[in-house]
Amino acid sequence: MVTVLQIFFVLGLIVIIIQFVFRIRRVNKTIPLPENYRELLNDYVKFYRQLDEKGKEKFEERIQHFLSAVQITGVNAIAEDLDRLLIAAGAIIPVYAFPDWQYINLHEVLLYPGTFNEDFDQGGSDRPVTGMVGTGAMQHVMIITKWELRQGFINNHDARNTAIHEFVHLVDKMDGTMDGVPEIILERKYVNKWKNLMDSTIRQMKSYGSDIDMYGATNHAEFFAVISEYFFERPDLLKANHPELYEMLGMIYKMER
Ligand SMILES: [Zn+2]
Repeated sequence: MVTVLQIFFVLGLIVIIIQFVFRIRRVNKTIPLPENYRELLNDYVKFYRQLDEKGKEKFEERIQHFLSAVQITGVNAIAEDLDRLLIAAGAIIPVYAFPDWQYINLHEVLLYPGTFNEDFDQGGSDRPVTGMVGTGAMQHVMIITKWELRQGFINNHDARNTAIHEFVHLVDKMDGTMDGVPEIILERKYVNKWKNLMDSTIRQMKSYGSDIDMYGATNHAEFFAVISEYFFERPDLLKANHPELYEMLGMIYKMER
């Protein structure tokens, strides 16, 4: 005889199966890239421009996967094709040497028109934040401002790129702590060397000033994000001015720039 309990069990099972199927379909759904994506990437993304044909195809594929997995939502701003491509480029550049990389700690990127304050308030005058990786209730969410996002790619000489900065925080955070030590990609034997190098550079920055953005002297996490912007945008300058940092970052990101 079929008991009420058995009926509930079967119903529960059906619900779980339906959820599972929908999840798989959502994950596997690949969204098409805009028609002029090659043109936009060529015009705006120096890293992409410098790749050979095969590398470019790989980059495009990675971008498509990223955009299929992560929702991009404009908040009082329109997320245009260019914005979506630039966010994806910022995501892929730091992990380009890791073909299987997935930002499992990110579900959504919110695109704000301008800067905001730490309560995510877009109004008022005290709103110095240009990008952030969410914590607590905002876990798995990144906020980035449209103006800073575009500026980061349009000006590719100033060693600043907000999108790369925020995605480096996520790479750092993947091991559970955002502490400037990306243990997922940094070999264990180099961890102490890296920490010491961060400490000595921050000390130097505080004592003598630096060509490195002073925001990097805030703590290890910000230092790692700031110096990564420098590495990806001005590798030539970093190599000339800070060869030890250049070498270490090449090791962390498994690439020569
Ligand atoms: Zn930061």
